[in-house]
Amino acid sequence: MRLTAGSVALALLVAAPFAAAQLGPNYKCDPATCKLPACYCASTQPPVANPPQFLMLTYDDSIQAAVWPQAQALLNRKNPNGCPVKATWYTQVLYSDPYLVSQWYAQGNEVADHSVTHAPIFAGTYAEVEGMRKWANEYAGIPLGKIKGFRFPYLNYTTDAIAMLAKMGFEYESSMASGTGDMVWPYTLDYGTVNDCLGTAPACGKELNAKGLWEVPMYSTTGPNGIAQLMDPYNLPTLDAPQSPEQVTANYRTTFDAHYAASRVPFGVYLHPTWIGKSVPVGTAANPTAIQDGTPKAAAVAAFLDYAMSKPDTWMVTASQMVEYMKNPVPASQLAAQPYMSCTPNPAPPNTVCNGLAGDAAAGNAAPETCNLVSGSFRSCYGCPAEAPTLENPSPPTTSTRKRVPTTCDSLWWDPVAGTCLCTADTCKYTDTARPVNLDPASLNAAAANGTTPAGGAANNGTTTPAPGDKQAANSAASVTVTNAMAAAAVGVLAAGFAAW
Ligand SMILES: [Zn+2]
Repeated sequence: MRLTAGSVALALLVAAPFAAAQLGPNYKCDPATCKLPACYCASTQPPVANPPQFLMLTYDDSIQAAVWPQAQALLNRKNPNGCPVKATWYTQVLYSDPYLVSQWYAQGNEVADHSVTHAPIFAGTYAEVEGMRKWANEYAGIPLGKIKGFRFPYLNYTTDAIAMLAKMGFEYESSMASGTGDMVWPYTLDYGTVNDCLGTAPACGKELNAKGLWEVPMYSTTGPNGIAQLMDPYNLPTLDAPQSPEQVTANYRTTFDAHYAASRVPFGVYLHPTWIGKSVPVGTAANPTAIQDGTPKAAAVAAFLDYAMSKPDTWMVTASQMVEYMKNPVPASQLAAQPYMSCTPNPAPPNTVCNGLAGDAAAGNAAPETCNLVSGSFRSCYGCPAEAPTLENPSPPTTSTRKRVPTTCDSLWWDPVAGTCLCTADTCKYTDTARPVNLDPASLNAAAANGTTPAGGAANNGTTTPAPGDKQAANSAASVTVTNAMAAAAVGVLAAGFAAW
């Protein structure tokens, strides 16, 4: 994408929407051989006539009490089928509250992988990615098979790291920016990427060894200055001189309208909820950095979401729902009938056990345990660890008698106190066939040799040593750099201030 070519951005989007231009250098994907559901070529054109307009709201970083209210507030909306809208949270382990992660999942939202520590110079080490799977499964009860996507911290990926994700069995990754010239529908990376073609070391045009791995691009919006904006646009152009909330809403609306009126390429709203909550006090040792009142920013986003969701055939979905759609695309008129869009599990899961549905005042089998560690306190339905998680030990052992979710039950129907699965109907039966957690990176190659890896088949090993010059692929544009710096600031504030972990 041409993040800095501001003058052409919106005009082109409207005047010559999604023309069939060459996508990326050397991108050669033949739809005759790259066929659904396993393979799909990047395209600016919709997969079927009259598609829905999809909108993806995503949050990044820790799920904790300090950011929970504002994250929940934006979900108070309905899709055209009357069901609550859904969102995706790219979750890091450090500072997250496992009980809130359970709640997020129980609401029907998506928990995706965003590493253990959100390390500043992160290029996708196996331990960071696999450690989050282990922790989310053991302390938040998320079935491994439901952790389908990954977003790189700081959007900092390498070609090797993307190949590793495919080999690990991930279904999609969502770290690449999409804008004017590469505003494409989600696609598989069998023939490389068409996004992020600029920058110092773009992955665009390179062999990725990531067959079957979906790319769900991050769709940029265009501001009045022509600069593309990706994450937390209310903080741009700088924290000291941000746009007005009204301008943020207008930017979203204008770009959304262009999508809606043309090929209905999906749209994205990418937030760190830290920025849209109440103010964080300053001046204490625990809170050395302030975050200003984010209520007007939240209102700006909410105003846009109200506008977008008022447009016919607009659906707010998780990234996983987006990928399910792409595997078997249908016209907007048929979307409500697709099983992945049904909002109510049938039969309804019990709210008398600790599965995230019982509410914070729950007692007995429905109560989470409170874990008080030196680093802070948090809750979990699955017992308390003896120590806080680290990269080396992301899911420390527990002495609790709580039973962890087995591969034969979805945690919605699992009673971790009694250790029983309460699902008795075929419609709620679940068998998790995802690759089991194994923190040894060598296990990836062993699994591939045995043919048990569900996706990928890449040749490089799982430790992903970046090639010289391969770090910080692509996202070199100014707005992304600014946003990344702010994400780092947010993480720092959480760590120093009100974080649990
Ligand atoms: Zn992040």
